[in-house]
Amino acid sequence: MNAVLTTPTVRTIAVRNPATDEVIGEISCFSNAEIAAAVERARKAQRRWAEVAVGERLKILRKFQRLLCEQRESVAAIVTREAGKPLAEAVATEVLVVLETVNYLLANVPAFLRPEDVPHGSPVMKLKRGWLLREPHGVIGIISPWNYPFSVPSVQTLTALATGNAVVLKPSEFTPFSALEMQKLLYAAGLDKDLLQIVTGDGAAGAGLLAADINKVIFTGSVATGQRVAQAAAARLLPSVLELGGKDPMIVLDDADIDVVSSAAVWGAFMNAGQTCLSIERCYVQEKIYEPFLKACVEKTAKLRVGNGTDSTTDVGPLIHQRQLKIVQTHVEDAIAAGARLLAGGKTLPQLGANFYAPTILADVKHSMRIMREETFGPVLPVRSFRSEDEAVALANDSEFGLAASVWTRNRKRGEALAAKIEAGTVMVNDMISCFGISEAPHGGIKSSGIGRTHGRFGLEEMVWPKYVDSDRLPKMKKLWWYGYGPQFAGQMNGFIELLFSKKLMNRLKGGAKSTKSYIRRKLL
Ligand code: NAD
Repeated sequence: MNAVLTTPTVRTIAVRNPATDEVIGEISCFSNAEIAAAVERARKAQRRWAEVAVGERLKILRKFQRLLCEQRESVAAIVTREAGKPLAEAVATEVLVVLETVNYLLANVPAFLRPEDVPHGSPVMKLKRGWLLREPHGVIGIISPWNYPFSVPSVQTLTALATGNAVVLKPSEFTPFSALEMQKLLYAAGLDKDLLQIVTGDGAAGAGLLAADINKVIFTGSVATGQRVAQAAAARLLPSVLELGGKDPMIVLDDADIDVVSSAAVWGAFMNAGQTCLSIERCYVQEKIYEPFLKACVEKTAKLRVGNGTDSTTDVGPLIHQRQLKIVQTHVEDAIAAGARLLAGGKTLPQLGANFYAPTILADVKHSMRIMREETFGPVLPVRSFRSEDEAVALANDSEFGLAASVWTRNRKRGEALAAKIEAGTVMVNDMISCFGISEAPHGGIKSSGIGRTHGRFGLEEMVWPKYVDSDRLPKMKKLWWYGYGPQFAGQMNGFIELLFSKKLMNRLKGGAKSTKSYIRRKLL
């Protein structure tokens, strides 16, 4: 038999600028063996890192923060080049969020990692002292999307590193250079290179990372991929955090300021060309102000400038790729065919480039339409009216998603009362999306929007496992519940239960006496 000689081929992926379609670079697809080796290196480095004092770890984050602050414009330019968003958004929603996160970590991680006392309620257990230690998981695998290619992986990576973990990160194949830039800054800040490794590639590299010896996965992306990640994680009992899609409702009550809420709706639906997990994807407006609200939204939308994100006058950039554009087109066409009123946009803008879609407003949408049920992830504001607050709550909650929601009213008490009834990981009253920039606020959803949290205290807890340590204060004493049961043991226990839980004082006192007497008579083994 003749041997067939083959040379190994490295698969590569061309990365394109979504505004111009030009190729801006190429990434190689890591093989499973290369990913496994990266995880192995990360594991060795993590053992050393976990021994490093928290203050020393945080020094590297502080230096990273300084470098990022200095180089914010070049970082923003990299984000805009591969994700298409306007430079202003790249600075505000990518760089600033990460700078803020470092402040949060510097201020909170030392106390978070300090042993925490666990006071005991039971009088018998007061003879022991218990406390919690928070141990790093080890190697955290992070899989990221393209829509926030710098802030999403950076917040997660920095939180993982600060708490003593190593990270192997698989960025989106559409936007790998933002994550590589974050890595470059962390290396320049003095991070051991094995503590943060980036494995590039498409879904196969993500699957390779899940198959490698990681201790936890933090996945951010679509529901469909999230389900695949959850299945792979379940097969090997790998802990996971899933930050998935959203269909965030905006509820506008009849006392809202029309000028304010129309500006909010237009920004909330169109910023990042609607490609934000927290975008306004459904808008419900109380009847009384429905038409004036729509009129104001249409006027403001007409003033938006769509174009290349590098142009400082651009408000709305392109969609990431053709597949995303097609989803948006399909949802809009489906809604119009089913009776929605098109008030703005509703068309592609080929004169600007292949991936541009005009900011679109649809009125009188029905809840059965795809545009109200599936994640559209494009510059579309679908609006419908409602009569009562109960109806608005029912509409908002009638969704498979539960990432975030917003309520708009001049009466804060009214808004806060309504917020309490909404099923979502975050509900904002008189704002939206900005919760992502509040480092203390937990980020994550319920229902199909995901499992677990990133950001804030809950995000820190995801990076560690709790170890409970307990130390008995009387090491020379045998425990009351050990062997040597006999008939006295039941008396001791019953008396003890009466002492603690009987309703009547007299029974409690009797129980105490019974328990003590039985204990004295017992012979512990
Ligand atoms: P996606 O699910 O297509 O891809 C996400 C990542 O998973 C990419 O890196 C991709 O290469 C990788 N991947 C693909 N197949 C995989 C597999 N079988 N195993 C492991 N990894 C695999 O999502 P996307 O299109 O990049 O991002 C958009 C989605 O992300 C939207 O649904 C959006 O709502 C969601 N998102 C959610 C949040 C949040 O915090 N909840 C934040 C940003 C984006």
